[in-house]
Amino acid sequence: MTDTQRGANGRIVRSTGGWGRTDGHHAAEVPGPAAQAAIGYAERLGWPLAPGYAVDGEICDCGAKQCPDYGAHPVPGAWRLASCATPTLVRVVWRMCTEAPVLAVLGRPVPGACRLGAVRAPALVGVAALEQLSKRSAMEGPAVDGHGRITFLVDLGIGPEALEEAEADFARWQRAGLDLSVLGGPERLDYVPLPTPGHTGRAGVVWATPPAAGRALPPLAAVVEVIDRAVRSTYPGLWRTVHAKTA
Ligand SMILES: [Zn+2]
Repeated sequence: MTDTQRGANGRIVRSTGGWGRTDGHHAAEVPGPAAQAAIGYAERLGWPLAPGYAVDGEICDCGAKQCPDYGAHPVPGAWRLASCATPTLVRVVWRMCTEAPVLAVLGRPVPGACRLGAVRAPALVGVAALEQLSKRSAMEGPAVDGHGRITFLVDLGIGPEALEEAEADFARWQRAGLDLSVLGGPERLDYVPLPTPGHTGRAGVVWATPPAAGRALPPLAAVVEVIDRAVRSTYPGLWRTVHAKTA
């Protein structure tokens, strides 16, 4: 027991191995599936993570009717700001919220990107973009499918230029009624839900394209370009109208 410390309630709060055993007389405490998924993401991807509110179809566990952050907001706690990028911290946090779905925290530097960001597209446009990206494997990055849209993880770059350009570009589509957005800018904290066991179907998301550990994320501008072509193939009339206005 020299490698452990006991908390006030007698729980072992630190050990050199294994999942915080409660007592030698009890069976080993193993992290649940959601916690294991979070630890796995931290180990393989090194993305900052936060535990999110569970959702089920239309309802968000936060209690807000028609929650504006449905499926993508963290439960209250210090990690909301600190976020957890190390497997050790993730273990600690998911011990407190064992069932929580995993959220990636955007706007931070991560392995393979200056700043982790995301492009969110309605499902139809997103699927067309996925098809185009699959033909250009150099540009292909991880993408998440769920809650009626496809979310592409991207590198926002260092300076504000790429982000500002993409936001201006997407503002045109938003005015035309298309729900396209860039997430991860400095204005607010944005989150993307990651596939988590126990949160499936209407309550969760799945990988449309799984992440490859150690691979750089595609730059924002490249994904915006592909989205533009996806809009053109999905809604040709809308695409012509918007481009005619800005030509
Ligand atoms: Zn909510």
